[in-house]
Amino acid sequence: MIRVFQVKCTSEDKSEIEAQLLKKLHMPTKDLLSWSIHRKSVDARSQKIFFSYIIDAKVKHERKYLRHKDVQPRPNEHYQPVSSGTHPLPNRPVVVGFGPAGMFAALILAQAGYCPIILERGSNVDTRTQKVHQFWQTGRLDPECNVQFGEGGAGTFSDGKLTTRSKDSRCRKVLEELVHFGAKDEILIDQHPHIGTDAFMEIIKQCRKEIERLGGMFLFDTALQDIQVKDEKLVSIQFQNQWHPCTALILACGHSAKDTILMLHTHHMELTNKRFAVGVRIEHRQDYINQAMLKEYAHDPRLIPARYKLTHMASNHKGVYTFCMCPGGYVIPAASEPKHTVINGMSYAKRDGINANSALLVQVDESDYGTKILGGLAYQENLEAKAYQMADGYAACCQLASDYLDHKVSTSFGSVQPTYALGTKFVDLNTLFSSPINQALHEALEVFEKRVPGFISSGAILSAVESRSSSAIRIARNEQGMSSIFGVYPSGEGAGYAGGIMTSAIDGIHSAEKLIEYFEKPQYNL
Ligand code: FAD
Repeated sequence: MIRVFQVKCTSEDKSEIEAQLLKKLHMPTKDLLSWSIHRKSVDARSQKIFFSYIIDAKVKHERKYLRHKDVQPRPNEHYQPVSSGTHPLPNRPVVVGFGPAGMFAALILAQAGYCPIILERGSNVDTRTQKVHQFWQTGRLDPECNVQFGEGGAGTFSDGKLTTRSKDSRCRKVLEELVHFGAKDEILIDQHPHIGTDAFMEIIKQCRKEIERLGGMFLFDTALQDIQVKDEKLVSIQFQNQWHPCTALILACGHSAKDTILMLHTHHMELTNKRFAVGVRIEHRQDYINQAMLKEYAHDPRLIPARYKLTHMASNHKGVYTFCMCPGGYVIPAASEPKHTVINGMSYAKRDGINANSALLVQVDESDYGTKILGGLAYQENLEAKAYQMADGYAACCQLASDYLDHKVSTSFGSVQPTYALGTKFVDLNTLFSSPINQALHEALEVFEKRVPGFISSGAILSAVESRSSSAIRIARNEQGMSSIFGVYPSGEGAGYAGGIMTSAIDGIHSAEKLIEYFEKPQYNL
Protein backbone atom coordinates (compact mmCIF):
# COMPACT_ATOMS: atom_id res chain seq x y z
CA MET A 1 0.00 0.00 0.00
CA ILE A 2 1.15 3.54 -0.70
CA ARG A 3 0.16 6.88 0.83
CA VAL A 4 -0.22 9.75 -1.64
CA PHE A 5 -0.12 13.31 -0.35
CA GLN A 6 -1.63 16.48 -1.83
CA VAL A 7 -4.22 15.11 -4.18
CA LYS A 8 -6.00 18.39 -4.93
CA CYS A 9 -9.59 18.49 -6.13
CA THR A 10 -12.24 21.14 -6.64
CA SER A 11 -14.99 18.93 -5.21
CA GLU A 12 -15.57 16.00 -2.86
CA ASP A 13 -16.75 13.86 -5.74
CA LYS A 14 -15.20 10.37 -5.67
CA SER A 15 -14.71 10.17 -9.42
CA GLU A 16 -12.82 13.48 -9.40
CA ILE A 17 -10.61 12.30 -6.54
CA GLU A 18 -9.78 9.11 -8.41
CA ALA A 19 -9.11 11.02 -11.63
CA GLN A 20 -6.79 13.45 -9.84
CA LEU A 21 -4.96 10.59 -8.14
CA LEU A 22 -4.34 8.86 -11.47
CA LYS A 23 -3.29 12.13 -13.07
CA LYS A 24 -0.91 13.05 -10.30
CA LEU A 25 0.89 9.72 -10.46
CA HIS A 26 0.62 9.37 -14.28
CA MET A 27 -0.97 6.04 -13.48
CA PRO A 28 -3.01 3.90 -15.90
CA THR A 29 -6.37 2.87 -14.39
CA LYS A 30 -5.38 -0.79 -14.44
CA ASP A 31 -2.60 -0.11 -11.88
CA LEU A 32 -5.01 1.28 -9.29
CA LEU A 33 -6.49 -1.68 -7.41
CA SER A 34 -8.29 0.18 -4.60
CA TRP A 35 -8.03 3.43 -2.67
CA SER A 36 -9.44 5.21 0.38
CA ILE A 37 -9.20 8.67 1.91
CA HIS A 38 -6.79 8.93 4.80
CA ARG A 39 -7.25 12.69 5.45
CA LYS A 40 -9.21 15.54 3.95
CA SER A 41 -8.60 19.25 4.36
CA VAL A 42 -10.19 22.28 2.79
CA ASP A 43 -8.13 25.16 1.49
CA ALA A 44 -9.98 28.40 0.80
CA ARG A 45 -6.98 30.72 0.73
CA SER A 46 -6.78 31.09 -3.03
CA GLN A 47 -9.41 32.28 -5.51
CA LYS A 48 -10.96 28.81 -5.56
CA ILE A 49 -11.80 26.29 -2.85
CA PHE A 50 -9.57 23.23 -2.94
CA PHE A 51 -10.02 19.94 -1.19
CA SER A 52 -6.66 18.44 -0.46
CA TYR A 53 -6.59 14.70 0.15
CA ILE A 54 -4.15 12.18 1.50
CA ILE A 55 -5.01 8.92 -0.21
CA ASP A 56 -4.08 5.36 0.72
CA ALA A 57 -3.93 3.20 -2.38
CA LYS A 58 -3.30 -0.41 -3.30
CA VAL A 59 -1.46 -0.35 -6.61
CA LYS A 60 0.41 -2.55 -9.02
CA HIS A 61 4.12 -1.69 -9.47
CA GLU A 62 4.32 -0.05 -6.05
CA ARG A 63 8.08 0.63 -6.28
CA LYS A 64 7.61 2.70 -9.41
CA TYR A 65 5.09 5.02 -7.75
CA LEU A 66 7.13 5.27 -4.55
CA ARG A 67 9.65 7.32 -6.56
CA HIS A 68 7.17 10.22 -6.67
CA LYS A 69 7.99 12.97 -4.14
CA ASP A 70 4.45 12.94 -2.69
CA VAL A 71 4.28 9.18 -2.20
CA GLN A 72 5.37 7.10 0.78
CA PRO A 73 4.82 3.54 1.88
CA ARG A 74 1.64 3.47 3.96
CA PRO A 75 2.66 3.16 7.63
CA ASN A 76 1.14 0.36 9.67
CA GLU A 77 -1.32 2.23 11.89
CA HIS A 78 -2.93 -0.85 13.29
CA TYR A 79 -2.79 -0.66 17.08
CA GLN A 80 -0.41 -3.24 18.53
CA PRO A 81 -1.30 -4.22 22.09
CA VAL A 82 1.74 -4.59 24.37
CA SER A 83 2.70 -7.85 26.07
CA SER A 84 2.15 -8.43 29.76
CA GLY A 85 5.02 -8.14 32.23
CA THR A 86 6.12 -10.67 34.79
CA HIS A 87 5.64 -8.90 38.13
CA PRO A 88 2.65 -10.17 40.09
CA LEU A 89 -0.37 -7.90 40.41
CA PRO A 90 -2.26 -9.09 43.49
CA ASN A 91 -5.13 -6.55 43.25
CA ARG A 92 -7.09 -5.13 40.37
CA PRO A 93 -5.47 -1.99 38.96
CA VAL A 94 -7.28 1.24 39.81
CA VAL A 95 -7.86 4.14 37.44
CA VAL A 96 -8.59 7.45 39.14
CA GLY A 97 -10.70 9.73 36.97
CA PHE A 98 -12.82 9.00 33.88
CA GLY A 99 -11.82 11.88 31.63
CA PRO A 100 -10.18 11.11 28.26
CA ALA A 101 -6.96 9.85 29.92
CA GLY A 102 -8.79 7.62 32.41
CA MET A 103 -11.25 6.43 29.76
CA PHE A 104 -8.57 5.21 27.39
CA ALA A 105 -6.34 3.87 30.17
CA ALA A 106 -9.29 1.86 31.52
CA LEU A 107 -10.29 0.70 28.04
CA ILE A 108 -6.81 -0.60 27.23
CA LEU A 109 -6.53 -2.33 30.62
CA ALA A 110 -9.97 -3.88 30.14
CA GLN A 111 -9.14 -5.02 26.60
CA ALA A 112 -5.96 -6.63 27.91
CA GLY A 113 -7.92 -8.52 30.60
CA TYR A 114 -6.79 -6.44 33.61
CA CYS A 115 -10.35 -5.69 34.82
CA PRO A 116 -9.71 -2.20 36.22
CA ILE A 117 -11.65 -0.47 38.97
CA ILE A 118 -12.47 3.10 38.00
CA LEU A 119 -12.92 5.71 40.72
CA GLU A 120 -14.66 8.87 39.55
CA ARG A 121 -15.39 11.60 42.06
CA GLY A 122 -18.26 13.00 39.98
CA SER A 123 -21.50 11.33 38.95
CA ASN A 124 -22.34 9.34 35.83
CA VAL A 125 -22.83 11.54 32.79
CA ASP A 126 -26.66 11.74 32.99
CA THR A 127 -26.74 12.82 36.65
CA ARG A 128 -23.77 15.05 36.01
CA THR A 129 -25.55 16.82 33.16
CA GLN A 130 -28.46 17.60 35.50
CA LYS A 131 -26.08 18.96 38.12
CA VAL A 132 -24.23 21.11 35.60
CA HIS A 133 -27.49 22.54 34.23
CA GLN A 134 -28.64 23.23 37.77
CA PHE A 135 -25.46 25.26 38.31
CA TRP A 136 -25.93 27.13 35.04
CA GLN A 137 -29.53 27.95 35.94
CA THR A 138 -29.29 28.70 39.65
CA GLY A 139 -25.62 29.26 40.50
CA ARG A 140 -25.74 26.30 42.95
CA LEU A 141 -22.41 24.55 42.42
CA ASP A 142 -21.68 20.94 43.36
CA PRO A 143 -17.92 20.98 44.07
CA GLU A 144 -17.69 17.21 43.40
CA CYS A 145 -19.66 17.16 40.17
CA ASN A 146 -19.48 20.00 37.66
CA VAL A 147 -17.93 21.00 34.31
CA GLN A 148 -14.51 19.76 35.48
CA PHE A 149 -15.53 16.69 37.50
CA GLY A 150 -17.70 13.71 36.59
CA GLU A 151 -17.96 10.95 34.01
CA GLY A 152 -16.24 12.04 30.78
CA GLY A 153 -13.96 14.54 32.51
CA ALA A 154 -13.36 18.14 31.57
CA GLY A 155 -13.98 17.64 27.87
CA THR A 156 -17.60 16.52 28.26
CA PHE A 157 -19.04 20.04 28.08
CA SER A 158 -16.80 21.14 25.26
CA ASP A 159 -16.54 21.66 21.56
CA GLY A 160 -15.05 18.18 21.40
CA LYS A 161 -12.27 19.24 19.09
CA LEU A 162 -10.00 16.30 18.42
CA THR A 163 -7.29 18.25 16.64
CA THR A 164 -3.77 17.43 17.69
CA ARG A 165 -0.30 18.00 16.34
CA SER A 166 0.77 14.71 17.93
CA LYS A 167 2.20 12.18 15.46
CA ASP A 168 1.70 9.39 17.99
CA SER A 169 0.47 6.22 16.31
CA ARG A 170 -2.06 5.78 19.17
CA CYS A 171 -4.02 8.68 17.63
CA ARG A 172 -5.65 6.32 15.15
CA LYS A 173 -6.61 3.91 17.92
CA VAL A 174 -8.36 6.76 19.80
CA LEU A 175 -10.27 7.90 16.72
CA GLU A 176 -11.28 4.36 15.77
CA GLU A 177 -12.55 3.64 19.28
CA LEU A 178 -14.53 6.90 19.28
CA VAL A 179 -16.13 5.88 16.00
CA HIS A 180 -16.80 2.42 17.43
CA PHE A 181 -18.62 4.11 20.35
CA GLY A 182 -20.76 6.22 18.04
CA ALA A 183 -18.78 9.19 16.67
CA LYS A 184 -19.28 9.95 12.99
CA ASP A 185 -16.65 8.15 10.91
CA GLU A 186 -15.71 11.44 9.23
CA ILE A 187 -13.53 12.15 12.31
CA LEU A 188 -11.15 9.54 10.89
CA ILE A 189 -10.39 11.69 7.85
CA ASP A 190 -11.16 15.31 8.79
CA GLN A 191 -8.15 17.51 9.37
CA HIS A 192 -10.04 19.33 12.14
CA PRO A 193 -12.30 16.65 13.59
CA HIS A 194 -14.79 17.60 16.30
CA ILE A 195 -17.55 15.79 18.15
CA GLY A 196 -19.67 18.33 20.06
CA THR A 197 -20.84 18.04 23.64
CA ASP A 198 -24.15 16.30 22.82
CA ALA A 199 -22.53 13.52 20.78
CA PHE A 200 -19.65 13.13 23.23
CA MET A 201 -22.00 12.26 26.10
CA GLU A 202 -23.38 9.23 24.25
CA ILE A 203 -19.88 8.08 23.31
CA ILE A 204 -18.80 8.19 26.96
CA LYS A 205 -21.68 5.94 27.98
CA GLN A 206 -20.86 3.39 25.27
CA CYS A 207 -17.23 3.37 26.34
CA ARG A 208 -18.25 2.75 29.95
CA LYS A 209 -20.51 -0.13 28.87
CA GLU A 210 -17.69 -1.74 26.91
CA ILE A 211 -15.29 -1.51 29.85
CA GLU A 212 -17.94 -3.08 32.11
CA ARG A 213 -18.54 -5.83 29.56
CA LEU A 214 -14.83 -6.63 29.68
CA GLY A 215 -14.87 -6.88 33.48
CA GLY A 216 -14.14 -3.29 34.56
CA MET A 217 -15.97 -1.84 37.57
CA PHE A 218 -17.09 1.77 38.04
CA LEU A 219 -17.49 3.61 41.30
CA PHE A 220 -19.05 7.03 40.66
CA ASP A 221 -19.36 9.76 43.29
CA THR A 222 -16.23 8.19 44.74
CA ALA A 223 -13.04 10.21 45.12
CA LEU A 224 -9.60 8.90 45.83
CA GLN A 225 -9.13 10.43 49.29
CA ASP A 226 -5.66 9.32 50.36
CA ILE A 227 -2.89 6.85 49.63
CA GLN A 228 -0.66 4.79 51.91
CA VAL A 229 2.98 4.50 50.92
CA LYS A 230 5.56 2.12 52.40
CA ASP A 231 9.20 2.20 51.34
CA GLU A 232 8.20 4.57 48.52
CA LYS A 233 5.73 2.00 47.20
CA LEU A 234 1.97 2.32 46.99
CA VAL A 235 0.31 -0.19 49.31
CA SER A 236 -3.26 0.97 49.76
CA ILE A 237 -5.71 3.69 48.86
CA GLN A 238 -8.60 5.31 50.66
CA PHE A 239 -12.00 5.84 49.12
CA GLN A 240 -15.49 5.86 50.62
CA ASN A 241 -13.63 6.45 53.93
CA GLN A 242 -12.11 2.95 53.85
CA TRP A 243 -8.68 1.61 53.03
CA HIS A 244 -8.25 -0.87 50.18
CA PRO A 245 -5.03 -2.65 49.14
CA CYS A 246 -3.70 -1.29 45.85
CA THR A 247 -0.52 -2.10 43.95
CA ALA A 248 -0.99 -0.20 40.68
CA LEU A 249 -2.95 2.98 40.14
CA ILE A 250 -3.29 5.18 37.08
CA LEU A 251 -3.80 8.72 38.30
CA ALA A 252 -5.78 10.55 35.62
CA CYS A 253 -7.37 13.18 37.84
CA GLY A 254 -7.15 16.18 35.47
CA HIS A 255 -5.83 19.65 36.23
CA SER A 256 -8.58 20.79 38.58
CA ALA A 257 -8.19 18.20 41.37
CA LYS A 258 -6.17 20.49 43.62
CA ASP A 259 -7.08 18.54 46.77
CA THR A 260 -5.72 15.34 45.19
CA ILE A 261 -2.50 17.08 44.11
CA LEU A 262 -2.04 18.55 47.62
CA MET A 263 -2.61 15.09 49.13
CA LEU A 264 0.08 13.62 46.84
CA HIS A 265 2.40 16.48 47.81
CA THR A 266 2.06 15.53 51.49
CA HIS A 267 3.28 12.05 50.48
CA HIS A 268 6.36 13.69 48.89
CA MET A 269 5.45 12.72 45.35
CA GLU A 270 7.87 14.57 43.07
CA LEU A 271 6.07 17.54 41.46
CA THR A 272 7.41 20.51 39.53
CA ASN A 273 5.89 23.83 38.51
CA LYS A 274 4.93 24.10 34.87
CA ARG A 275 4.20 26.97 32.53
CA PHE A 276 0.49 27.45 31.93
CA ALA A 277 -1.74 30.27 30.70
CA VAL A 278 -4.52 32.57 31.88
CA GLY A 279 -6.71 35.12 30.17
CA VAL A 280 -10.18 35.72 28.84
CA ARG A 281 -12.76 34.28 26.44
CA ILE A 282 -13.34 36.51 23.47
CA GLU A 283 -16.77 36.36 21.87
CA HIS A 284 -17.77 37.52 18.38
CA ARG A 285 -20.74 36.97 16.15
CA GLN A 286 -20.09 33.85 14.06
CA ASP A 287 -21.26 35.60 10.89
CA TYR A 288 -18.56 38.23 11.43
CA ILE A 289 -15.91 35.47 11.88
CA ASN A 290 -17.18 33.74 8.71
CA GLN A 291 -16.84 37.00 6.78
CA ALA A 292 -13.46 37.89 8.25
CA MET A 293 -11.95 34.45 7.66
CA LEU A 294 -13.63 33.23 4.49
CA LYS A 295 -14.42 36.48 2.62
CA GLU A 296 -16.29 35.53 -0.59
CA TYR A 297 -16.91 32.02 0.78
CA ALA A 298 -18.53 33.31 3.99
CA HIS A 299 -21.82 31.60 3.13
CA ASP A 300 -20.40 28.37 1.70
CA PRO A 301 -21.98 25.53 3.73
CA ARG A 302 -18.90 23.38 3.12
CA LEU A 303 -16.72 25.84 5.03
CA ILE A 304 -18.84 27.49 7.69
CA PRO A 305 -18.75 28.00 10.60
CA ALA A 306 -15.22 29.38 10.20
CA ARG A 307 -12.44 28.94 12.74
CA TYR A 308 -9.41 31.06 13.51
CA LYS A 309 -6.14 30.74 15.35
CA LEU A 310 -3.98 33.75 16.22
CA THR A 311 -0.68 34.13 18.05
CA HIS A 312 1.54 37.01 19.10
CA MET A 313 4.81 37.31 21.02
CA ALA A 314 4.48 40.42 23.21
CA SER A 315 7.40 42.77 23.82
CA ASN A 316 7.59 41.54 27.45
CA HIS A 317 8.32 38.05 25.99
CA LYS A 318 4.92 36.69 26.93
CA GLY A 319 3.30 34.49 24.32
CA VAL A 320 -0.34 35.29 23.61
CA TYR A 321 -2.55 32.91 21.66
CA THR A 322 -6.14 32.03 20.91
CA PHE A 323 -7.04 28.54 22.06
CA CYS A 324 -9.94 26.11 22.02
CA MET A 325 -11.98 28.18 19.59
CA CYS A 326 -15.63 27.12 19.60
CA PRO A 327 -17.41 28.05 16.34
CA GLY A 328 -21.15 28.55 16.84
CA GLY A 329 -20.57 27.98 20.53
CA TYR A 330 -21.33 29.20 24.04
CA VAL A 331 -19.25 30.69 26.82
CA ILE A 332 -19.90 28.54 29.87
CA PRO A 333 -19.50 28.73 33.66
CA ALA A 334 -16.85 26.08 34.38
CA ALA A 335 -16.06 26.49 38.11
CA SER A 336 -15.29 23.51 40.31
CA GLU A 337 -14.72 25.36 43.58
CA PRO A 338 -17.25 27.45 45.46
CA LYS A 339 -16.74 31.21 45.14
CA HIS A 340 -14.30 30.87 42.26
CA THR A 341 -15.19 32.01 38.75
CA VAL A 342 -13.90 29.96 35.82
CA ILE A 343 -14.95 30.48 32.21
CA ASN A 344 -14.64 28.13 29.26
CA GLY A 345 -16.32 27.42 25.91
CA MET A 346 -18.34 24.63 24.32
CA SER A 347 -20.48 23.94 21.29
CA TYR A 348 -22.96 21.36 20.11
CA ALA A 349 -22.26 18.96 17.23
CA LYS A 350 -24.03 21.28 14.76
CA ARG A 351 -22.02 24.32 15.86
CA ASP A 352 -25.00 26.46 14.99
CA GLY A 353 -25.00 29.03 17.79
CA ILE A 354 -25.00 32.75 16.89
CA ASN A 355 -21.62 33.48 18.49
CA ALA A 356 -18.08 32.20 18.14
CA ASN A 357 -15.83 32.19 21.17
CA SER A 358 -12.21 31.44 21.88
CA ALA A 359 -9.85 31.56 24.82
CA LEU A 360 -7.33 34.39 24.52
CA LEU A 361 -4.47 33.39 26.73
CA VAL A 362 -1.16 34.70 28.04
CA GLN A 363 1.61 32.37 29.15
CA VAL A 364 2.31 32.38 32.88
CA ASP A 365 5.47 31.02 34.51
CA GLU A 366 7.56 31.30 37.68
CA SER A 367 8.30 34.96 36.85
CA ASP A 368 4.60 35.54 37.63
CA TYR A 369 4.05 33.28 40.63
CA GLY A 370 7.52 32.62 42.12
CA THR A 371 9.50 29.43 42.45
CA LYS A 372 7.63 27.96 45.40
CA ILE A 373 6.27 24.55 44.51
CA LEU A 374 2.54 24.65 43.73
CA GLY A 375 2.86 28.45 43.31
CA GLY A 376 1.05 28.20 39.98
CA LEU A 377 -1.97 26.56 41.60
CA ALA A 378 -2.14 29.37 44.18
CA TYR A 379 -1.84 32.00 41.41
CA GLN A 380 -4.70 30.39 39.48
CA GLU A 381 -6.85 30.14 42.60
CA ASN A 382 -6.29 33.81 43.57
CA LEU A 383 -7.29 34.97 40.12
CA GLU A 384 -10.48 32.87 40.14
CA ALA A 385 -11.41 34.10 43.66
CA LYS A 386 -10.75 37.71 42.61
CA ALA A 387 -12.98 37.35 39.54
CA TYR A 388 -15.75 35.98 41.77
CA GLN A 389 -15.39 38.94 44.14
CA MET A 390 -15.33 41.47 41.31
CA ALA A 391 -18.58 40.10 39.88
CA ASP A 392 -20.02 39.48 43.36
CA GLY A 393 -20.99 35.96 42.31
CA TYR A 394 -20.62 33.54 39.40
CA ALA A 395 -21.48 36.13 36.73
CA ALA A 396 -18.75 36.59 34.13
CA CYS A 397 -16.51 39.64 34.50
CA CYS A 398 -17.18 41.34 31.17
CA GLN A 399 -15.86 44.24 29.11
CA LEU A 400 -15.99 45.19 25.47
CA ALA A 401 -12.54 44.55 24.00
CA SER A 402 -12.37 48.19 22.86
CA ASP A 403 -13.15 49.44 26.40
CA TYR A 404 -10.52 47.11 27.86
CA LEU A 405 -7.91 48.85 25.70
CA ASP A 406 -9.22 52.24 26.92
CA HIS A 407 -9.39 51.16 30.61
CA LYS A 408 -13.09 52.02 30.57
CA VAL A 409 -15.87 50.01 32.26
CA SER A 410 -18.39 49.21 29.51
CA THR A 411 -21.99 50.33 29.92
CA SER A 412 -23.71 48.21 27.29
CA PHE A 413 -23.05 45.49 24.74
CA GLY A 414 -22.92 46.28 21.04
CA SER A 415 -23.64 43.85 18.22
CA VAL A 416 -22.44 40.84 20.23
CA GLN A 417 -24.72 39.61 23.01
CA PRO A 418 -23.06 37.36 25.61
CA THR A 419 -24.02 33.67 25.80
CA TYR A 420 -22.81 33.10 29.37
CA ALA A 421 -25.70 31.52 31.31
CA LEU A 422 -25.06 33.04 34.74
CA GLY A 423 -25.16 36.69 33.71
CA THR A 424 -22.44 39.27 33.25
CA LYS A 425 -21.02 42.12 35.31
CA PHE A 426 -19.19 45.00 33.65
CA VAL A 427 -15.77 45.49 35.24
CA ASP A 428 -12.43 46.87 34.15
CA LEU A 429 -10.48 43.69 33.44
CA ASN A 430 -7.27 45.71 33.71
CA THR A 431 -7.82 45.55 37.48
CA LEU A 432 -8.17 41.75 37.44
CA PHE A 433 -4.87 40.90 35.78
CA SER A 434 -1.29 41.81 36.64
CA SER A 435 0.40 44.44 34.48
CA PRO A 436 2.55 41.93 32.48
CA ILE A 437 -0.63 40.03 31.52
CA ASN A 438 -2.47 43.25 30.64
CA GLN A 439 0.47 44.52 28.61
CA ALA A 440 0.63 41.31 26.59
CA LEU A 441 -3.14 41.16 26.06
CA HIS A 442 -3.32 44.84 24.99
CA GLU A 443 -0.52 44.40 22.46
CA ALA A 444 -1.98 41.19 21.08
CA LEU A 445 -5.48 42.64 20.66
CA GLU A 446 -4.12 45.60 18.75
CA VAL A 447 -2.07 43.32 16.49
CA PHE A 448 -5.04 40.98 15.93
CA GLU A 449 -7.29 43.92 14.97
CA LYS A 450 -4.76 44.85 12.28
CA ARG A 451 -4.52 41.26 11.04
CA VAL A 452 -8.25 40.58 11.18
CA PRO A 453 -10.08 43.92 10.86
CA GLY A 454 -13.04 43.99 13.25
CA PHE A 455 -11.48 41.57 15.73
CA ILE A 456 -12.04 44.28 18.39
CA SER A 457 -14.21 46.79 16.59
CA SER A 458 -16.97 44.32 15.66
CA GLY A 459 -18.21 44.62 19.25
CA ALA A 460 -16.12 41.73 20.66
CA ILE A 461 -16.72 40.91 24.32
CA LEU A 462 -14.10 39.72 26.78
CA SER A 463 -15.23 37.47 29.66
CA ALA A 464 -13.04 36.38 32.55
CA VAL A 465 -11.43 34.46 33.89
CA GLU A 466 -10.17 31.69 31.65
CA SER A 467 -7.72 29.96 33.97
CA ARG A 468 -7.97 26.20 33.43
CA SER A 469 -6.59 25.72 29.97
CA SER A 470 -3.69 23.58 31.18
CA SER A 471 -2.06 22.14 34.26
CA ALA A 472 0.07 24.34 36.52
CA ILE A 473 2.16 21.36 37.65
CA ARG A 474 3.89 18.31 36.27
CA ILE A 475 4.23 15.03 38.15
CA ALA A 476 7.62 13.50 37.44
CA ARG A 477 7.55 10.02 35.94
CA ASN A 478 10.28 7.54 35.11
CA GLU A 479 10.99 5.19 32.21
CA GLN A 480 8.40 2.79 33.58
CA GLY A 481 5.79 5.55 33.50
CA MET A 482 5.62 5.64 37.30
CA SER A 483 5.83 8.62 39.65
CA SER A 484 8.38 8.85 42.46
CA ILE A 485 5.94 6.60 44.35
CA PHE A 486 6.22 3.10 42.90
CA GLY A 487 2.93 1.82 41.50
CA VAL A 488 1.41 5.26 40.79
CA TYR A 489 1.21 6.12 37.08
CA PRO A 490 0.46 9.85 36.60
CA SER A 491 -1.42 10.35 33.37
CA GLY A 492 -3.08 12.94 31.17
CA GLU A 493 -3.45 16.65 31.48
CA GLY A 494 -3.40 16.89 35.28
CA ALA A 495 -0.04 15.16 35.40
CA GLY A 496 1.31 17.71 32.90
CA TYR A 497 1.72 15.35 29.91
CA ALA A 498 -1.18 16.37 27.73
CA GLY A 499 -3.27 19.33 26.67
CA GLY A 500 -6.60 18.48 25.13
CA ILE A 501 -8.84 15.49 24.58
CA MET A 502 -6.68 13.65 22.04
CA THR A 503 -3.33 14.00 23.78
CA SER A 504 -4.91 13.08 27.13
CA ALA A 505 -6.48 9.98 25.61
CA ILE A 506 -3.14 9.05 24.01
CA ASP A 507 -1.36 9.53 27.32
CA GLY A 508 -3.96 7.35 29.03
CA ILE A 509 -3.14 4.56 26.56
CA HIS A 510 0.56 5.12 27.19
CA SER A 511 0.09 4.77 30.97
CA ALA A 512 -1.99 1.60 30.60
CA GLU A 513 0.69 0.12 28.33
CA LYS A 514 3.40 0.88 30.89
CA LEU A 515 1.36 -0.82 33.61
CA ILE A 516 0.68 -3.88 31.45
CA GLU A 517 4.33 -4.16 30.39
CA TYR A 518 5.42 -4.29 34.03
CA PHE A 519 2.70 -6.30 35.71
CA GLU A 520 1.66 -9.82 34.90
CA LYS A 521 -1.83 -10.41 33.53
CA PRO A 522 -3.93 -11.17 36.60
CA GLN A 523 -6.16 -14.19 37.09
CA TYR A 524 -9.10 -12.69 38.94
CA ASN A 525 -12.25 -14.45 39.95
CA LEU A 526 -14.76 -11.81 39.04
P1 FAD B 1 -10.04 15.40 32.92
O1 FAD B 1 -10.81 15.38 31.67
O2 FAD B 1 -9.94 16.64 33.68
O3 FAD B 1 -10.57 14.21 33.82
C1 FAD B 1 -10.17 14.02 35.13
C2 FAD B 1 -11.26 13.25 35.88
O4 FAD B 1 -10.74 12.87 37.14
C3 FAD B 1 -12.49 14.10 36.16
O5 FAD B 1 -13.61 13.45 35.66
C4 FAD B 1 -12.52 14.22 37.67
O6 FAD B 1 -13.83 14.21 38.20
C5 FAD B 1 -11.75 13.00 38.13
N1 FAD B 1 -11.10 13.16 39.44
C6 FAD B 1 -10.35 14.21 39.85
N2 FAD B 1 -9.88 13.96 41.10
C7 FAD B 1 -10.33 12.75 41.45
C8 FAD B 1 -10.19 11.97 42.60
N3 FAD B 1 -9.47 12.37 43.67
N4 FAD B 1 -10.83 10.77 42.67
C9 FAD B 1 -11.60 10.33 41.62
N5 FAD B 1 -11.76 11.05 40.50
C10 FAD B 1 -11.12 12.23 40.41
N6 FAD B 1 -9.86 19.84 24.75
C11 FAD B 1 -9.90 19.56 23.43
O7 FAD B 1 -9.01 18.86 22.93
N7 FAD B 1 -10.90 20.03 22.63
C12 FAD B 1 -11.91 20.79 23.13
O8 FAD B 1 -12.80 21.19 22.37
C13 FAD B 1 -11.91 21.11 24.51
N8 FAD B 1 -12.87 21.88 25.07
C14 FAD B 1 -12.92 22.04 26.42
C15 FAD B 1 -14.00 22.71 26.99
C16 FAD B 1 -14.11 22.81 28.38
C17 FAD B 1 -15.33 23.49 28.96
C18 FAD B 1 -13.09 22.27 29.21
C19 FAD B 1 -13.19 22.40 30.72
C20 FAD B 1 -12.00 21.63 28.65
C21 FAD B 1 -11.91 21.50 27.26
N9 FAD B 1 -10.84 20.83 26.65
C22 FAD B 1 -10.86 20.58 25.31
C23 FAD B 1 -9.73 20.29 27.45
C24 FAD B 1 -9.93 18.79 27.69
O9 FAD B 1 -11.21 18.59 28.17
C25 FAD B 1 -8.89 18.27 28.64
O10 FAD B 1 -7.62 18.48 28.06
C26 FAD B 1 -9.08 16.80 28.92
O11 FAD B 1 -10.37 16.52 29.39
C27 FAD B 1 -8.08 16.31 29.95
O12 FAD B 1 -8.27 14.94 30.11
P2 FAD B 1 -7.83 14.18 31.43
O13 FAD B 1 -8.43 12.85 31.34
O14 FAD B 1 -6.37 14.30 31.62
O15 FAD B 1 -8.49 14.98 32.65
